[in-house]
Amino acid sequence: AAGVKDPHRRFRLGVMGGTFDPIHHGHLVAASEVAAVFELDEVVFVPTGQPWQKAKTQVSLPEHRYLMTVIATASNPRFTVSRVDIDRPGPTFTIDTLRDLRRMRPDADLFFITGADAMAQIMSWKDNDELWSLAHFVGVTRPGHVLDGMGRSDVSLLEVPAMSISSTDCRDRVQEQNPVWYLVPDGVVQYIAKYGLYLEPGRSGVGSS
Ligand code: ATP
Ligand code: MG
Repeated sequence: AAGVKDPHRRFRLGVMGGTFDPIHHGHLVAASEVAAVFELDEVVFVPTGQPWQKAKTQVSLPEHRYLMTVIATASNPRFTVSRVDIDRPGPTFTIDTLRDLRRMRPDADLFFITGADAMAQIMSWKDNDELWSLAHFVGVTRPGHVLDGMGRSDVSLLEVPAMSISSTDCRDRVQEQNPVWYLVPDGVVQYIAKYGLYLEPGRSGVGSS
C-alpha cells in the first residue's frame, strides 16, 4: 500500500556519466526522467577524467566540469556528484566507473544512463561482458540519434522529452558570444562567465562529438 516501505527493497542508484563540458538541461531532463520511471532513489552524476574518446579535443579542467555539475544538481535532493572518475589517474573507462561505484555502494543496484549516441558506442565495444553484469543499462532518446538496444534484455530504452542541446553547441555559442541562457542552468551560465570558459578561438566544434 502507498507509504508502506518494503524493508527488503534494494537501493536503486542511477549513474549518469558524461564529460559535462558544460552540463546542460538535456543531461538533467534525461536523469530526472529515468529516475521517475525506474523509481531511482538517487542519481549520481560522474564527470569523466580526460576522456579518451576526446583526447584530441580540448576539454576543460576536471575541476571546472565537476563544479559546474555540482552547481547544476545542487537543488535536487536525489541528485549527487561523484569524483571517482576525475580522481582516478588516466582516461576514463565506464567499466572502472561501475567497478568503483559497486565497491563504494555495495547496497545498491546500478542503473547506467546513456543517450542514444553513447549507447551505440557502448554496444560496439567487444569485450564488455563484465559491463553488463555490473549495471542495468538505460538508453534514452536524443534528437538526431537512433536509439537501438540491439534486442538485449539487460538494456531498457526510454523516450525522454526531446532536448536538442549539446555541450559542443553550448561551447560554440559562448565562443561566438551567443546566449546559453535556458540551455544550461543559470548558475552554470554565471560560472562560465566568471572563469571565461570556452572563449579561446579555434576550439569551436573541431573534432567534437
Ligand atoms: P559533447 O557535445 O561535448 O559530446 P554532450 O552534449 O554529448 O557533449 P556528454 O557529456 O558527451 O554531453 O554526454 C553525457 C551523456 O548525456 C551521454 O550519455 C549523452 O548521450 C547524454 N546526453 C547528452 N545530451 C543529451 C540530450 N540532449 N538528450 C539526451 N541525452 C543526452
Ligand atoms: Mg557527447
